[in-house]
This record gives sequence, structure tokens and C-alpha cells, in this order.
Amino acid sequence: MRPRRLVIATLLTACVANAHAQTTVPTTANELVTAAKRAAGSDHAGTFLRICVAPDNLNGTPRPPPPARAAPDRATWYAHPYKVFDNLYFLGTQIHSSWAITTSAGIIIVDTLFDYAAEPEIVDGLSALRLNPKDIKYVLISHAHGDHDQGAALLQSRYGAKVVMGAPDWESTLQRPASAPGGVPKRDIAVGPEGLKITLGDTTVDVIATPGHTPGTLSYLFPVRDGKRTLTVAYSGGTAFNFPRSAEDFAIYRDSASKMGAAAKAAGATIVMSNHTEFDRAWDRSRIAQLPRAAGEKHPYEIGTESVLRYFEMMRDCAEAQRLSMN
Ligand SMILES: [Zn+2]
Repeated sequence: MRPRRLVIATLLTACVANAHAQTTVPTTANELVTAAKRAAGSDHAGTFLRICVAPDNLNGTPRPPPPARAAPDRATWYAHPYKVFDNLYFLGTQIHSSWAITTSAGIIIVDTLFDYAAEPEIVDGLSALRLNPKDIKYVLISHAHGDHDQGAALLQSRYGAKVVMGAPDWESTLQRPASAPGGVPKRDIAVGPEGLKITLGDTTVDVIATPGHTPGTLSYLFPVRDGKRTLTVAYSGGTAFNFPRSAEDFAIYRDSASKMGAAAKAAGATIVMSNHTEFDRAWDRSRIAQLPRAAGEKHPYEIGTESVLRYFEMMRDCAEAQRLSMN
């Protein structure tokens, strides 16, 4: 029989070792990828795959921005519009998201798709949902890439909506030729590093500058209503590493992920959304949201704060892993 003192000492050693393992901060690129994989879990696998397993700029050559192109076969992108929360409507394609936030004083559109999709998805989608496109007051652009901003000029010129974009992304947008797909919106509201709040009627969107994917990438916090409950969405405005590969840009991206995670935590966000359906399964979740739910069953988008925070930890660690791997 072992002396009792030895058993206690052994147990204590095991506890200390375990506590040490749990608090060890990853410091190498490999350790950070492992930490990111753990943070991703099974709920954020799409984003982990895109930015940690095989980042687009891994070989130093980022993929070019989405090209100007004719509309591809409609069957490859068209998605029906759906009411997803009491004040939030999916107007996206199978691949990219556009959302309508309805308020007591009009509609806020978040992201606007490629030019070819803007009219059938956003304009016709609102009408199909018995909403009026003339009520669009603001258009929030998460970043100035064609898959999210080519519909902005249409909504601005036709309905007088104010377009909101990060200040550096306005600079690149205004350099486009007038013949660019979708045209070029006129500068309305430029968001600086300090961010701002957009209030329309009873609804406020907290606009947070999260540079990295582009210099002017914006992310958001906004409320959605699910019956009697109000939940908070953390909307991540830029994800892929398809910018020129530099340690400085990875550090900027890393810090933005930390900043957005902290903002999501402070706001108690229990939902994370993105602008590509591969990152938040928007098309699937929007369709699942149409199904009846049992009493107490959560909305398919509601994942809880712990999971939301893991999403931004994963983004931070993937960026830091890439930065370290350059040294
Ligand atoms: Zn982009």
C-alpha cells in the first residue's frame, strides 16, 4: 500500500501539470494552428479551412479580386429570399450574403453582392418578402470587393440610400472607372478607425473598423429579434487572406480579430455572421430557420457567446500563425 502522503503529492503534481497545460500560451506557428483548430471546433470548420489550412496568399501571390464578369448560370448562384429573424431577412446568393435589417424608420441593407445578383436578389427579394425597396435608407458595405459592393451604386442612385464604407475602401472604390460592373457609388459616409454607430428608427448598428482583409473592412454588432428575445449578432466583415502577404498586414488582421472578439464579448453576442455562406452557413441556416421549432429550441443561428468568441480567437490565431511563419 502506498503511503498516503505520496498519493497526495502525485495528485498535486498531476493537477499542477494539467493547469500548466491549460494556460500555456501558443508561441509558434504550429502551436497557433493547433490552438486555432481547437477554437474552430466543428462549428467554424469552413473559416478554419480557408484561413488556416491553405490560406489564399500562402505562396505570396494572393488571388486577384473577383473579376468583372458576366452573370454565371443562374442555377449556380440564385437563392430564394427568406425571413430569418423577425427583423432580419436573407437576400443573398448561394455563395454571398446580403441582409435586410428592418427598423421602425426603414431598411438597412448589409452588403450588396455582385452586380448581376443585386436586382434579382435584393430588389426583387425585398418585394417577394413584401418589403419595399424604396424604404432602404442605408447600405453598409463590409469591404470594397466586387462580391459585396457592386450593388451599392444601384441602391444609392435608385432609392437615395446612404452608402457606408470604411474610409480606405472608399479611396479604392472611387478610383474605379465609371464602366466598372455595377457602376461607382458616390461617397456618402466614410468610417474611420474609431468606428461609428448608425441609428435608424428603433435600431442601432455598431460599426467597428476591422482592417485586415482590406484596409477599410468594417464589422458590425446589431440586434435581431427572435420572438420575445433580442439577440446580438457579431458580423465579421472580412475573412480570407487574399491580400499581399506581409507580416504587417497579418498583424493588422490579428489585432482586428482580437478587437472584434472583445466587442462581441462586451455586447454579449450569441450569433456570428459573415458575408460568405461558406463561413457561417447562411444559406443553410436561412432555410433551416423556416422549419417549425419545438418549445425552447434555439434558432439555428444562435450558437452562444462561447462559440462566437472562439470564432474570433481562431481568426486571430490563424493570422498570427501566418505572421510567425514568415520569419
Ligand atoms: Zn473580400
